[in-house]
Amino acid sequence: MSIVANRLLAVKPSATLAVTTKAKELKAQGVDVIDLGVGEPDFPTPKHICDEAKAALDRGETKYVPVPGTLAFRKAICDKFKRENNLDYTPEEITVNCGGKGTLFNLIMATVNPGDEVIIPAPYWVSYPDMVLIAEGTPVFVAGQEENGFKITPADLEKAITPKTKWFIINSPSNPSGAAYTVDELKALGEVLKKHPNVWIISDEIYEHIVYDGFKSASIAAVVPELKDRTLTVNGLAKSFSMTGWRVGYAAGPVEVIKAANKIQSQSTSHAVSFCQAAGVVALNSPMDFLKERNDIFKQRRDMVADRLNAIKGMSCRVPEGSFYLYPSIAGCIGKKTPDGKEIKTDTDFVTFLLESQGVAVVPGTAFGLSPYFRLSYATSTEQLKKACERIKLFCDSLTD
Ligand code: PLP
Repeated sequence: MSIVANRLLAVKPSATLAVTTKAKELKAQGVDVIDLGVGEPDFPTPKHICDEAKAALDRGETKYVPVPGTLAFRKAICDKFKRENNLDYTPEEITVNCGGKGTLFNLIMATVNPGDEVIIPAPYWVSYPDMVLIAEGTPVFVAGQEENGFKITPADLEKAITPKTKWFIINSPSNPSGAAYTVDELKALGEVLKKHPNVWIISDEIYEHIVYDGFKSASIAAVVPELKDRTLTVNGLAKSFSMTGWRVGYAAGPVEVIKAANKIQSQSTSHAVSFCQAAGVVALNSPMDFLKERNDIFKQRRDMVADRLNAIKGMSCRVPEGSFYLYPSIAGCIGKKTPDGKEIKTDTDFVTFLLESQGVAVVPGTAFGLSPYFRLSYATSTEQLKKACERIKLFCDSLTD
């Protein structure tokens, strides 16, 4: 008998973190690796936020704080939801956690019973299915077709709902596809959800500010107000504020769920770091001028990489609305052989051979539930991205029938 709990049997470690680890190992061995597996902005945390963390330390804010989050931070979060998302919440309806990942984990652990179904559109963020599995629930995948911008349709959603459905998770803009739902698309999904009052909604909006070409992110709880009393709106500081290492995430929603999630937190991590919450108040309450410049750089990179990938034989790449990922199709490379005779049967083969032969690290689509694709993060320098595109081209050009 293994010491490891049965509930972990079906659970995989994070595939994206695994790619980064492999790339780091190769780098340590002296291999020239370009890591496009990372899921974090390459920009620093803005100075005014760092300064506030230092000031909070100097003020002695180094002790335990309330489990749900400090009142000051929860108030700042309520103001943010009102200002940016047109959503009214009180501090009791907010939970602050160790990263958006901590938020989602608490919510799922607090609500999913064995056998409960959770609808997850694919391609999905790697952690959703495994969190559901840890809670002994059943992930139900709905493929967003590339032709529909990797977004699911109301009919797709309707088909997936059963009497066992507990949650529908929507992530817009998406990791890994970058796809973002318009207000009309959210309304159309809302029409389906209105017919199923037992289905709750998790709206993961962590990339809301990383959008291009004038796209405006919207919250389903605001766009379809009838759903607000069964929607948990999830967000965090990681992506918008380049604060991945600070580990601050939060959610807003009905008190019953927030309290249950806080109960999990009270028996696990207790709370998010005290001085990170103090810095979070300043992050949310200050102008976000730095974003425009950063998004302009992201946009240039997105366009440059997509153009270059689209010019490669065997590859096609949609230009998405948001986040900092591309999700190119490698359908045209499947069945081809590398110069040393290895056949590319899957997207995992593709990324493995690409890393081995050209030292470019990306994540296979299979990790995100939709193949044959890979995810490329363009949250890295433009120089590195250009070099990576050249290497990907060399690799694809070397393939034969
Ligand atoms: N949700 C999505 C879609 C993500 O991509 C991530 C991070 O990659 C998270 C949530 C969690 O972010 P964090 O735990 O760093 O706040």
